[in-house]
Amino acid sequence: MDMLIDGMKVTDNDMYEVKNPYDGQTIDTVPIAHLNNVHRAIKAAVNAKKDIQEMSAFKISNKLYDVYEKLRKNKNNLAKLLTLEVGKPIKESKVELERSIETLKLSAEESKRIYVETVPLDAGLNGKDFFTFAQKIPLGVIGAITPFNYPLNLTLHKIAPALACKNTVVIKPPLDAPLTVLKCADIINEQFPPGVINVVTGYGNEVGDAIVSSPHINKISFTGSVPTGLMISSRSGMKKLTLELGGNDPLIVLDDANIDEAVLGAVRGAYLNAGQVCMGVKRIIIDNSIADEFIEKLVKKTQELKIGNPLDEKTDIGPLINENAAIMVEETVNNAVKKGAEILTGGKRKKTFYEPTVIDNVSPEMDLVTNETFGPIAPIIRIKSVDEAINIANNTEYGLQAGVYTENLKNALRCANEIESGTVFINKQPTFRTDNMPFGGFKNSGIGKEGIKYAIEEMTKIKLIGLNLK
Ligand code: NAP
Repeated sequence: MDMLIDGMKVTDNDMYEVKNPYDGQTIDTVPIAHLNNVHRAIKAAVNAKKDIQEMSAFKISNKLYDVYEKLRKNKNNLAKLLTLEVGKPIKESKVELERSIETLKLSAEESKRIYVETVPLDAGLNGKDFFTFAQKIPLGVIGAITPFNYPLNLTLHKIAPALACKNTVVIKPPLDAPLTVLKCADIINEQFPPGVINVVTGYGNEVGDAIVSSPHINKISFTGSVPTGLMISSRSGMKKLTLELGGNDPLIVLDDANIDEAVLGAVRGAYLNAGQVCMGVKRIIIDNSIADEFIEKLVKKTQELKIGNPLDEKTDIGPLINENAAIMVEETVNNAVKKGAEILTGGKRKKTFYEPTVIDNVSPEMDLVTNETFGPIAPIIRIKSVDEAINIANNTEYGLQAGVYTENLKNALRCANEIESGTVFINKQPTFRTDNMPFGGFKNSGIGKEGIKYAIEEMTKIKLIGLNLK
């Protein structure tokens, strides 16, 4: 599949084979862009700024609705392509498509709500006699760099609000899963002037870095891991940054919790997309008094999950993105076992597959739970008090989401207030997002927020215009 530069399909000399993680078969190839093509894409986006800025909000909104309709019509084909390139079970790919469609619709709606605000300068010393207003104007060119695990919706969370507030974009999708983004970009390109949306494919440290370090890009909107986020922040110079990074989300189950509900939350949160979710449940912190009952039920539910071909509607657990990713999970679990953790079910790898795995007797210092383990793992940390639960939950560099199961209002509010993360859900696991909510982590989990209205805030700048009426 070709890249998209200045409204044209563009290829390059070197190609990358995009493989199906399920069977290793090549699905398609994409160019490994040379830097001259990245610069062409950036130049096209710079030149197209004027074209999109001249469009009315009415027109942009209609165009985004047209894209929304077209994506809806193509959703089944795109869901299949997503499953082929990511290995995600088809039922989950269908959900990603529904959410991508929703992201577009929300952006079409929000594009009509970018208001000008009057500012009372007369509230300040010598400010009398002014009529002043603050406009939200587009930043210019947004560089969007995205990860493999939800490639379509996470990329649309950058493209759609960027267009809604009249920016142009240069996108670098993940090299392992660039195909649905390229297809969707073609659909968007049909509706907008050439150069408004550009997609270049290639390695992050080359193509991604050329975007990050370009003086012609006005903002980087990045979703991916903490190390890449830190690298980007050191290379981006004087640009606005939104960084949506990794997580190590706790699921806290207190002694008065509804155990069955908490088990369902744990299953969903730990195993969705084979555990390759930034806001997945990465640590189950549970009161020792109910741990045995919870674990028995969790193990039973885990064993009921169907592992297999992700194109099969009945499959719950597909492969990880590649064999290296599965080997990393295997090694991390094996190291925890050497230090005293106990596998209760699962724990085996076959090529790109890793079994959904429940691990008991995990201590908070083990690598398994201090780092972000990107696989279908449910590690159990037993605690004896709410204080201990909160301390362990916060004892991490991450702070994306948290979930707390309790029927006690005081404990619920205490956890909500004291846990340091961008979102705390009560009686719901993390691993939950609607596309309009302010989404983004604290601490090393990131900088800034997405969720259409919030992304638009970060993709515009305020210009103050004051009329001296005296
Ligand atoms: P990653 O390795 O950080 O890669 C993300 C993107 O950055 C890819 O497109 C990658 O290119 C590119 N990249 C790599 N090095 C770069 C550099 N030096 N400069 C510019 N771009 C560079 O992350 P991943 O493994 O794809 O995704 C998993 C991670 O994303 C996890 O940590 C997960 O928690 C996080 N994530 C966060 C959120 C959130 O919303 N907070 C959502 C989903 C995922 P390549 O094509 O070469 O890989």
